[in-house]
Amino acid sequence: KMSKKEQEEVVRRDSAVEKGDTQSERNFSRQEYLKKRELQKLEELKDYLEDESYLFGDEKLTEAEIQDFRYKKAIYELIKKRTQEEDNVGEYRMPDAYDQDGSVDQEKRFAVSVQRYRDTGSTEKMNPFAEQEAWEDHQIGNATLKFGAKNKQVSDNYEFVFEDQIDFIKASVLAGDNYEDAMPAKPSQESTGKSAFDMLQEERKNLPIYSYREQLLNAVKDHQVLIIVGETGSGKTTQIPQYLHEAGYTKHGKVGCTQPRRVAAMSVSARVAQEMGVKLGHEVGYSIRFEDCTSEKTILKYMTDGMLLRELLGEPDLGSYSVIIVDEAHERTLHTDILFGLVKDIARARPDLKLLISSATMDAEKFSDFFDHAPIFSFPGRRYPVDICFTTAPEADYMDAAIATVLTIHVKEPLGDVLVFLPGQEEIEAVEENLKNKIRGLGTKIRELIICPIYANLPSELQAKIFEPTPEGARKVVLATNIAETSLTIDGIKYVVDPGFSKMKSYNPRTGMESLLVTPISKASATQRAGRAGRTSAGKCYRLYTAYNYYHDLEDNTIPEIQRTNLASVVLSLKSLGIHNLLNFDFMDPPPSEALIKSLELLFALGALNQLGELTKAGRRMAEFPLDPMLSKMIVVSDKYKCSDEIISIAAMLSIGPSIFYRPKDKQVHADNAMMNYHVGNVGDHIALLKIYNSWKETNYSTQWCYENYIQVRSMKRARDIRDQLEGLLERVEIEVSSNSNELDSIRKSIVAGFFPHTAKLQKNGSYRTVKHPQTVHIHPASGLSQVLPRWVVYHQLVLTSKEYMRQVTEVKPEWLIEIAPHYYQLKD
Ligand code: ADP
Ligand code: MG
Repeated sequence: KMSKKEQEEVVRRDSAVEKGDTQSERNFSRQEYLKKRELQKLEELKDYLEDESYLFGDEKLTEAEIQDFRYKKAIYELIKKRTQEEDNVGEYRMPDAYDQDGSVDQEKRFAVSVQRYRDTGSTEKMNPFAEQEAWEDHQIGNATLKFGAKNKQVSDNYEFVFEDQIDFIKASVLAGDNYEDAMPAKPSQESTGKSAFDMLQEERKNLPIYSYREQLLNAVKDHQVLIIVGETGSGKTTQIPQYLHEAGYTKHGKVGCTQPRRVAAMSVSARVAQEMGVKLGHEVGYSIRFEDCTSEKTILKYMTDGMLLRELLGEPDLGSYSVIIVDEAHERTLHTDILFGLVKDIARARPDLKLLISSATMDAEKFSDFFDHAPIFSFPGRRYPVDICFTTAPEADYMDAAIATVLTIHVKEPLGDVLVFLPGQEEIEAVEENLKNKIRGLGTKIRELIICPIYANLPSELQAKIFEPTPEGARKVVLATNIAETSLTIDGIKYVVDPGFSKMKSYNPRTGMESLLVTPISKASATQRAGRAGRTSAGKCYRLYTAYNYYHDLEDNTIPEIQRTNLASVVLSLKSLGIHNLLNFDFMDPPPSEALIKSLELLFALGALNQLGELTKAGRRMAEFPLDPMLSKMIVVSDKYKCSDEIISIAAMLSIGPSIFYRPKDKQVHADNAMMNYHVGNVGDHIALLKIYNSWKETNYSTQWCYENYIQVRSMKRARDIRDQLEGLLERVEIEVSSNSNELDSIRKSIVAGFFPHTAKLQKNGSYRTVKHPQTVHIHPASGLSQVLPRWVVYHQLVLTSKEYMRQVTEVKPEWLIEIAPHYYQLKD
């Protein structure tokens, strides 16, 4: 039963929804009142939970029953504590995002609420079970269990664990193409007695594209440029290159196929190698930044769009290719968009080159228009209908809501795998851990739930796991980034959970600041996501937002990346390709000219371009490195400071991202101590990274050492690979490897020479202000300098979570800025 206050709250919410008053709609925090309701339920169990005689009676308890008791008790304690905290405040707390910024305008509100959701999601709310675990550990340590009389009255009360179930309404159905018959289950190898290879060949013939093979090959023969449109999972990426090979297109050159994401390039090429019965890296290979898995033999080459752009620098006519497939064109990544303009030009100059543009969405007219009205080859997919459900009220925390929805599906819905879309690696790891905790708490009462994460940095051994068939009687839940939207197809997905967010770059051309931001997806993305539930049978998509949100807050289409990103890196590439007048470049959708000018300014400030906008010698060297121009500049300059050896280690460590340390639950203090070792003397994060790398090197790259120091061995190995490549590139640009490890200031000056545009100065209140375009920022809590607060710092990157944080910072002296970048910083008199 609801209390009066709760009833009022519900009424208020309902009328708010009716009125379409989104602000109060969003301000309503479902979580709060659920917590109260949960507590009421627990109150009924209070007597039993407060004393532990249940555990110590005469009747023998099963392990599951003990677990269950612990779990309930832990929740009880936790919620009790929370409620008490709230009582102290004396208020039923409401989300306050708007209160502190009441003037936020109508359009921006959703973005603001996203920000707030993320704040609560990523920090406090995502960790309730940390407390629970601490409690459990404590209990396991203390209690000598005796077995005793069961209190029958409470034994089977699991319901409340699912108290935070979410109400959905079915709003519509995404129509299928072919749903009279469910797709026959794949026969197992044993039952047919066929070899794995023959089975794969049969699977290939079952793909929708197979019936159009001849027509497609004819169209390719008749036209130089072809736009191909087909549903995700119909076989475009894996089959078309093989068809082209079978038809002889690889006799006089390679077939290249670009992918916007590295995971897709790796995973798809592995699959194709398997289908062709060859070893990956031989006839079929892939090439991604810092990793080339191809050989002389390679005829089918999958690569990221960024890599093809790099190859163009060395081979401007793509002479070694007979066919280029720009795949996943609908994704409209920056590199894909740039490639459009370049390959269009090459195709005009090279009539023998075939160009295929492949997309999963129907709006192919635009591609066709751009490529001189190239014909569109579109073939029907095979999709079963998908029920679309929205929440009845907005969710305060999308990650909690996703977990609750997965558990509800697992307990209530027929078997079938679940796909959950999350913004990034951090969110995936948090949800994974939280789900595991909940499942552990539920013991053996539920069926097996196999959790498989997939994101860009996941090591390839683990990537394959998402494709493994789910054991009978179990359910698989795939936690994925946008990668699973169209790039990878996972068979057997019946339920899609869509919180409605993805991580997107946002760029402010005025200030030149770039941030990664959790942003609402577009309606087009939402439709793609829903479609993933209907690959092998009718499915269901749970959207963790209201129909109102969907219709009012989501854009129709995602804005192409080129219009919301820093262009410095591609401008440098284009300049080195000899494309001087960028304003006249053949863009499908031109970037804001402000952004173009900003990047020219930055490249000029870095000394990569001269006053006439021409590439300088330094610029030419910088363009050799597949890195952001600021990092390349840092490397090129290290020659002058005689510390290139150290600087490439730092650049490599920066390139592997933030996943260097891990903190096992039971040894967090140890892990933090291990980390602090590298920060001794407040050397700054860059030097700390260098120290980590060097210590590892001194142990002869020992894995054991990584374990002992709570360092991810995989990340380190990747850093080593990257470093090796950078060393090779040093040679190419004729920079000697020189070491100067005692002169930390030389190293710092090299960093400044690349990153001087990222300078910030301490303010009285402990925050920082960026120097060139004043904006308030903070040192990331994971930085070694977060407690030190030096007066002047340079930072590697800004990330916007609850605040605008600087990640990886190093202290600098202000006079260095004037010494190193006099054109950028002058003394104020
Ligand atoms: P499209 O490019 O049209 O979206 P794909 O060619 O990527 O389609 O996928 C066709 C089929 O191949 C799908 O059924 C998918 O499940 C399967 N597939 C693709 N990659 C793999 C892989 N790495 N492991 C297992 N199956 C895969
Ligand atoms: Mg594809």
